[in-house]
Amino acid sequence: MGNGRRPLVAGNWKMHGSRAENTALLEALLARLNRVSAEVLVCAPFVYVSEIATRLAGTQMAVGAQSLCAEPVGAFTGEVSAAMLQDIGCKYVLVGHSERRSLFHEDNGLVARKFVAAQSKGLVPVLCVGESLAERQSEQTFAVIREQLDAVLAAAGIAPFAQAVVAYEPVWAIGTGLTATPEQAQEVHAFIRGHLAKQDATVAAGVRILYGGSVKGSNAGELFAMADVDGGLVGGASLKADEFLQICAVAHS
Ligand code: PEP
Repeated sequence: MGNGRRPLVAGNWKMHGSRAENTALLEALLARLNRVSAEVLVCAPFVYVSEIATRLAGTQMAVGAQSLCAEPVGAFTGEVSAAMLQDIGCKYVLVGHSERRSLFHEDNGLVARKFVAAQSKGLVPVLCVGESLAERQSEQTFAVIREQLDAVLAAAGIAPFAQAVVAYEPVWAIGTGLTATPEQAQEVHAFIRGHLAKQDATVAAGVRILYGGSVKGSNAGELFAMADVDGGLVGGASLKADEFLQICAVAHS
């Protein structure tokens, strides 16, 4: 790092936790976060976001949601809008996480509309992109990521990326214990920044690009040391206070 971009470590709790577990985890983190220079974010299940936003007000941690509806309001049973998230103090929202793309059939067009919906209400979208193992093995990585980015660029333009975060998460590394090597991560992060720079070099230089995929205390340091890796999006390891703090501690500019 060392480039003016403040590192960000985001935990993705997925569908884990309970009020009691969340409280214990957050209090354990808050008690020891003063030694961490990175910005820290936890992305919680919808039902807990409001309570967590209240607890985290005035701290160096922020709360995010894990998805949102692309539509602003209306007959969309079971959905949660950007305005609702903004209303309860949510700051960030994951958009296009690979589990949303694969299990809930969110295609590039829908992900792009969610990005626009989030950003139009002042939420910071964390746009997740990444290739599957088959796509990597058939040398499609850059083409897949270019398409994922281009769908959002076509819908939103480059300007909103000044207030957005991108997360590179190779699908084969999420929850598998397999991690991209620092060189593999850097190669794709540089590609993402370079692709955005074709539209606006200043915006591209400022956008934070997180790496996600089996980040742990033991590998975070070498990943975060790469020039274009500005922190991490952390699933499993974000549920353990000690491990998550260890990851946060090595994210510094
Ligand atoms: C994720 O959920 O985005 C993720 C990267 O999970 P894990 O760290 O468990 O691979």
